[in-house]
Amino acid sequence: MLDSFIRHFVKKMTRLRLKKSKRGLIEEVEGAHGEFGLVKSNPIPVAWGPSGEYGYLSRLRCPCSEPFFFHRVGSCGPGPDGHVVDLFELICRQHVHRYRLYLDMYHSVLSTKAPEGLQLSSPEGVGTTSYIGDLARMTFEQMEDLVTRQK
Ligand SMILES: [Zn+2]
Repeated sequence: MLDSFIRHFVKKMTRLRLKKSKRGLIEEVEGAHGEFGLVKSNPIPVAWGPSGEYGYLSRLRCPCSEPFFFHRVGSCGPGPDGHVVDLFELICRQHVHRYRLYLDMYHSVLSTKAPEGLQLSSPEGVGTTSYIGDLARMTFEQMEDLVTRQK
């Protein structure tokens, strides 16, 4: 009787823990607060390091449904779960929308969530995980050329 109660309890606790960590990995990092992706205290969790950052950013669409071109401004120290957070700057293809997004590339699952006002779609955006200076002076097409030449 007591034995089966304990077994049931342990099973229940394990399930709860799994659910919590799974949600934490997919949507937001542990201890996150503030607006998703827009503040350092709530970085977007991605997997596979810089290529995961690139993959996520290339799938984003601005409010006018255009893909972005982007570069990495730099890393800005530990986020809420202790991982180093990267700051990216993004401009949409029409040069209408400009964002600064925070990413944490030390997770094992790609987030399926987009920052407020943005959407995730097919990977059509282009950019680099290095810093290239004044991004606003560039066009989407120039970034495309740069990325093609680097391949
Ligand atoms: Zn736009």
